[in-house]
Amino acid sequence: MKTLGHWIGGKHTDGSTGAYGPVYDPATGEQPTRIALASAEEVDQAVAAAKEAYQEWGHYSLARRTAILFAYRQLLDAHREEIARLITAEHGKVHSDALGEVARGMEIVELACGLADKLKGELSTEVSTRVDVSAIRQPLGVVTGITPFNFPAMVPLWMFPLAIACGNTFVLKPSEKDPSAAYRLAELAAEAGLPDGVLNVVGGDKVAVDRLLEHPDVSAVSFVGSTPIARYVQQEGVRHGKRVQALGGAKNHMLVLPDADLDHAADNAVNAAYGSAGERCMAVSVVVAIDSVADELVDKIAERARNLRIGPGNDPDSEMGPLITAEHREKVAGYVRGAADQGAEVVVDGTALSVSGHEQGFFLGVSLLDKVRPASDAYRDEIFGPVLCVVRAETYDEALALINNSPWGNGTAVFTRDGGAARRFQLEVEAGMVGVNVPIPVPVGHHSFGGWKDSLFGDLHVYGNDGIAFYTRGKVITTRWPDPADSGGINLGFPRN
Ligand code: NAD
Repeated sequence: MKTLGHWIGGKHTDGSTGAYGPVYDPATGEQPTRIALASAEEVDQAVAAAKEAYQEWGHYSLARRTAILFAYRQLLDAHREEIARLITAEHGKVHSDALGEVARGMEIVELACGLADKLKGELSTEVSTRVDVSAIRQPLGVVTGITPFNFPAMVPLWMFPLAIACGNTFVLKPSEKDPSAAYRLAELAAEAGLPDGVLNVVGGDKVAVDRLLEHPDVSAVSFVGSTPIARYVQQEGVRHGKRVQALGGAKNHMLVLPDADLDHAADNAVNAAYGSAGERCMAVSVVVAIDSVADELVDKIAERARNLRIGPGNDPDSEMGPLITAEHREKVAGYVRGAADQGAEVVVDGTALSVSGHEQGFFLGVSLLDKVRPASDAYRDEIFGPVLCVVRAETYDEALALINNSPWGNGTAVFTRDGGAARRFQLEVEAGMVGVNVPIPVPVGHHSFGGWKDSLFGDLHVYGNDGIAFYTRGKVITTRWPDPADSGGINLGFPRN
């Protein structure tokens, strides 16, 4: 069995606690790897390495930082197949989807390559006689990222490239369920010329997270994961005086209006609900269908869902892979088994699926639940699996009220041919990311990603301009170079322009 330790100061180190977490191959159910779970002292070592590296990295010229980021981008490009294979082996998603994940993560490295332009300051001259004012942004110091299992490469890449491009040093605590991709990202950064200690990775669980949240040398915390942990991380981080952005879970609604192209809508609902086995924070988990087209739409979704090919992620014929663990599969299946008792119609039931030759893998077929009641568990909880709920509404207003009553507000989408209706929806809906005939509106790298309500605790979204603002702090400098002949003399009054 392979054992992963930590990556501290540019070197792999063994874990010292004797505590390990299992890393499974979800397609076989085997456990080829284990990861060391860090103690508070090991987290301290990583933070100390980052703090030491900051003394130099903070003074690296923009040109040198940029050159390293360009080299990193080239290495990621050369290794994208390998990183995707690591993702599939531990997460289970199909290879093409894993390649997409790497590509979306690389967008942020590309943004970071051009950061010199974004870090330009502002200057106002002669705001008063011979007085200039300039505004600059400076790095924070040591910052940390805590990431979920469902995008083991992309979410770390949302964070550390921008953070280090801004001049910070970084401690990453990846999900202990599929950590290998994160370690490979760190090794490649070192190969690109990143100095030791600028990027560190600790394996770990709650113990490591709690130490990062309280560590006096950590200035800021980026977190992505489930809502209860996001809320906790934000509260704990703020309690310890840190800047925090904590992105949580979601229940993303896709509204289908009666004038929509129903075949197009059904294709998109299936792709967005079952892609990556529904383990995406931007997955569509609820279709809100206006009554007049609901029967036809449900038929079209069901027909497509029944034909999906489910199998190991490294088989090019598979369209959907397994879930992350056996426990998670059972939890997801429980929602389908309990749905009928809570009033839903189970149109497609995937709970009996078995994949030949992979009977021990964590596979679950896709399920489609119609006429789901807003008070039922399947509607209220984030299931995070291949289960699509359909809720019917009589009118646009009823549909909008349902969506806006959700405690989450990550992504949402409207499918329609009516520009006026789409415009109304994008202004009225309470969510951070809206798609118009786009089911998974994940913003490109130079915009920012983030939800509203229980999908994000904190103010600034990740990457894009918000990411740069998060990883820097502003300073305003007021300067006067007086003419020696022009002393103003003594004046105790408050300066007036
Ligand atoms: P999770 O909350 O269980 O874990 C996320 C991270 O928190 C991991 O690194 C984990 O080790 C750590 N953690 C877990 N329990 C902890 C505890 N009690 N105290 C401190 N730290 C703890 O999430 P997950 O299951 O890995 O990921 C799936 C969740 O992430 C889903 O809810 C999904 O919607 C969400 N997610 C959100 C976004 C977004 O952008 N909003 C993106 C991806 C995933």
